[in-house]
Amino acid sequence: MPIPLDSRKKPSSVKIHVTSGAGIDIVWSDDHASHYDFAYLRDECPCATCNEEREKKRAFAAAGAASAAALPMFKPKARAQAATIVGNYAIQLTFNDGHSTGIYSYDHLRSICPCPDCAKDFRSAHT
Ligand SMILES: [Zn+2]
Ligand SMILES: [Zn+2]
Repeated sequence: MPIPLDSRKKPSSVKIHVTSGAGIDIVWSDDHASHYDFAYLRDECPCATCNEEREKKRAFAAAGAASAAALPMFKPKARAQAATIVGNYAIQLTFNDGHSTGIYSYDHLRSICPCPDCAKDFRSAHT
């Protein structure tokens, strides 16, 4: 999969608040600021296993299995245990559930910025 050269997906400042659990703050080259909760990032983990799980859930929901969402399930809020900057292109997070295979490229992070503007710019094409 080719990575588009998009200046909007280059960070100019990255702050990772592992100790306080506040999440990640990124300011991008176009001066846009994004904030990510660790719980949100856990849900959006880009690794193959989580991708597969999200696909399954989507297929399940599409098949009309609405009751699945109503099942009471204890899920502690995800927190990060450690964060590592990978080269100049990604952040690797280790979560408190032991999951650590997710490498969050800045490209991916900009695409999943939770604000409505980015949802429109980066995500509307996928739905
Ligand atoms: Zn994952
Ligand atoms: Zn945004």
